[in-house]
Amino acid sequence: RAKFSGKHCLAVFDHAMHESMSRRLALEESLRTVLKDGGLRLDFQPIFDMVTGDIVGLESLVRWDHATQGLISPADFIPVAEETGLIVPIGRWILEEACRTIHRISGMRRGVKPISVSVNVSKRQIADHDFVELLGDVLQTYEVPAELLNLEITESLIMETPEDITERLTRISNLGVQIHMDDFGTGHSSLSCLHRFPIDVLKIDRSFVATMQPGDDYESIVHAIITLAHNLDTKVIAEGIETPRQLQQLRELDCDCGQGYLYSKPKSIDELEDLLLEVKPTPSCNPAFGFERYE
Ligand code: C2E
Ligand code: MG
Ligand code: MG
Ligand code: MG
Repeated sequence: RAKFSGKHCLAVFDHAMHESMSRRLALEESLRTVLKDGGLRLDFQPIFDMVTGDIVGLESLVRWDHATQGLISPADFIPVAEETGLIVPIGRWILEEACRTIHRISGMRRGVKPISVSVNVSKRQIADHDFVELLGDVLQTYEVPAELLNLEITESLIMETPEDITERLTRISNLGVQIHMDDFGTGHSSLSCLHRFPIDVLKIDRSFVATMQPGDDYESIVHAIITLAHNLDTKVIAEGIETPRQLQQLRELDCDCGQGYLYSKPKSIDELEDLLLEVKPTPSCNPAFGFERYE
């Protein structure tokens, strides 16, 4: 056995490590100029009212079209942006682009009930001292009513920097921007944080939606989350709805809104134009609202 853990194995390991380190360094290098290179864009995933089927919002999701590597997932480059601090200028661009888009959508949908746009923000961005001021400036620059912007934060943000983050979130909330707790149930926050922090909406993580079966423990957890949220005047959005059965189950659990591939994948505003311009004559309860139409 000892023979195999010798020099040769070490060399292989070294090589693999070297590969991944240089890939990571290359990623970091091109991330440094990504804004200048115009490599980022935002896609948007519709969020629907579970009962009426009306679109109530969009979640913005950043995309990186890399010149040689093709599309790079945010799950791969956002962590690098966070570690290097590049998330601050990149996050600022995302916020501005989202606000430009809100302005554009308002123009497209004159006379129709406005929809909000949710932007994912990292801990590092909110921790930046100028963040609230930046937020106010961007809203003003793009003439966006604060009510049309939501910020999605994660449980780790609240758990790891509790003191000044409370004050920061309160100031954001006072601007009129809603705060949505993303991926709820996957982190380590306790349910009591819903009460301690100004959180307007809970987003139930996709993993619960994917796992729960009628009558099982996961369904009980989701039910408990929804009931508690409602008692605290907090709305609930379910993430990652992929099947009509999941949709039906979540409706029965009294979930307010949902998003997922069943309704629509994340798309560009141009691709979503028909959906955004659609005005429903009777926004009444229609159990058969057309999730397939937007595919
Ligand atoms: P998230 O905020 O929880 O976003 C939801 C992710 O689930 C998105 O992945 C979305 O495309 C995907 N998704 C939506 N519906 C379904 C479904 O029905 N089935 C499945 N399997 N997946 C679904 P995406 O776009 O790859 O983003 C991954 C994560 O990267 C996001 O998770 C978020 O944490 C982060 N991210 C994305 N955009 C930004 C951004 O602008 N800023 C920051 N800080 N983070 C971002
Ligand atoms: Mg999100
Ligand atoms: Mg999420
Ligand atoms: Mg997620």
